[in-house]
Amino acid sequence: MIQNNKRNLALEVLKKYFGYENFRNGQETLIHSILGGRDALGIMPTGAGKSLVYQIPGIIMEGVTLVISPLISLMKDQVAALNEVGIHAAFINSSLSARQVSLALEYARQGKYQLIYVAPERLETEEFLYFALNTRISMVAVDEAHCISQWGQDFRPSYLKIVRFIEQLPKRPVIGAFTATATKEVMEDISCILKLQSPEVVVTGFDRENLYYEVRTPKDKEKEILHYIAEHPGKCGIIYCNTRNNVEELWELLLKEGVAAAKYHAGMSDTDRSRNQENFIYDRNLVMVATNAFGMGIDKSNVRYVIHYNMPKNIESYYQEAGRAGRDGEPSECILLYSGRDVEVNKFLIEKGNAGEEQDFADREIILERDMERLKKMTYYCFTKDCLREYILNYFGQYGNSSCGNCCNCLNEYEETDVTKQSMVILQCIRESGQRYGINLIIAALLGRRTAKLTATNMVNQSMYGKLASYQEGFLKQIVNKLILDEYLFVTSDKYAVVKLNRTALKVIEGEAAVILKTSKTNTEDREDGK
Ligand code: ADP
Ligand code: ZN
Repeated sequence: MIQNNKRNLALEVLKKYFGYENFRNGQETLIHSILGGRDALGIMPTGAGKSLVYQIPGIIMEGVTLVISPLISLMKDQVAALNEVGIHAAFINSSLSARQVSLALEYARQGKYQLIYVAPERLETEEFLYFALNTRISMVAVDEAHCISQWGQDFRPSYLKIVRFIEQLPKRPVIGAFTATATKEVMEDISCILKLQSPEVVVTGFDRENLYYEVRTPKDKEKEILHYIAEHPGKCGIIYCNTRNNVEELWELLLKEGVAAAKYHAGMSDTDRSRNQENFIYDRNLVMVATNAFGMGIDKSNVRYVIHYNMPKNIESYYQEAGRAGRDGEPSECILLYSGRDVEVNKFLIEKGNAGEEQDFADREIILERDMERLKKMTYYCFTKDCLREYILNYFGQYGNSSCGNCCNCLNEYEETDVTKQSMVILQCIRESGQRYGINLIIAALLGRRTAKLTATNMVNQSMYGKLASYQEGFLKQIVNKLILDEYLFVTSDKYAVVKLNRTALKVIEGEAAVILKTSKTNTEDREDGK
């Protein structure tokens, strides 16, 4: 009986405070589990609606819900949004003064807040512990729970404090853990390290079946976009650019060509931004040209296409931004316009972005390397000839069937060429020269070119020198890219971009694995080479 009442209550709260009619996939199961006192582990893609899963029980249950989150800005936003709809919430983090912290904890002890957001570092401070030991804490919600796992790319040692903290509490609260990382190792780590007790685990799919994925490499991106828009009259779409400058330029071009477009980036005034956003949301402007600043928390359901004018810096961003298409479940298209320059610009942005943050040097190095690695995976997306949907799913640790029938690669016809022999020569050349050089030098050596660099490095005297002189340079580059995609080779993330062998390369060298190159039959456009 009580259970049923709580169920109805959850739906009521959803409607009353958040204004939504129905729960999304996975939300209800997790909420009911928590309300029933059972731990919960929610693995859902970004934007799927994880916050409601702990906010709603936080509102319904007696006592305080602690939300542990690593991001100060996220805490602020969520607390502001909750307060706006009349839910009492507060955050405690390093942006507050000591006095403000004491005051907030005092109010909390008096039962003024239903939800309190804290950074994990805070948990072991004396003041916070004193509060926690003298207050009824009904739930601990761990946001970005993958930070607890060393397998994850965002491991934060301070997350390990959560377990010790919970163990000190007089009564064990129900624990909810939430993340968008779906690999098996991370899931197991979360469950094990947080000591979840037979949790309800919900993994909602990362697959968005109604989205069609395509990568194009046009010589003229602007022409390509104008052409696309002309072919989709009356349809709503977002075009993402990687810089404010690109937004401005493309927006002006669209206006000049008679396309009524809105624009959005962080360099615009608040009023300009909200006016443009509303023009798009209410269909007064069908096209939105924006940086990634646009889209957070915007729920426009009839976006029929998302075009990326530039390649984003990682698959997470791409998935999230492209995912703004087709929220209503109707067929929609996600088109990425690739050019080699996007890689360079992203490298620059990553280096610049990281330099600005307050991190100690070791942290910065690790983060830089991680971001470069993610950029590489994004770049490979633009080169793979295999199913694009499968590529994205694999990235998030999910596996579907290897051919979706709804991406450009699945729909394209390919010719298959066995390039195992050429691959052997390439791999041997890299091994023989000590895995010290970049792709271009290796290819120049294989082509038998006579350059000062090849002489200086003594490549001209290698046994593999000139061995592939009868092939086109572009063809050899395609093979090298394929070897990278198949993970026989990798390129170092530093500025030297040295190409090295993975252990599996031996299989090819020894003739145990074949390398098959797919070349497009229909796409006659020249593709730029990858780096
Ligand atoms: P996540 O934390 O998983 O990235 P959020 O909790 O920020 O996602 O939610 C993303 C967006 O989806 C928010 O704008 C939120 O209001 C909206 N949302 C969440 N649940 C629902 C729902 N049941 N119906 C409609 N919109 C929802
Ligand atoms: Zn596919």
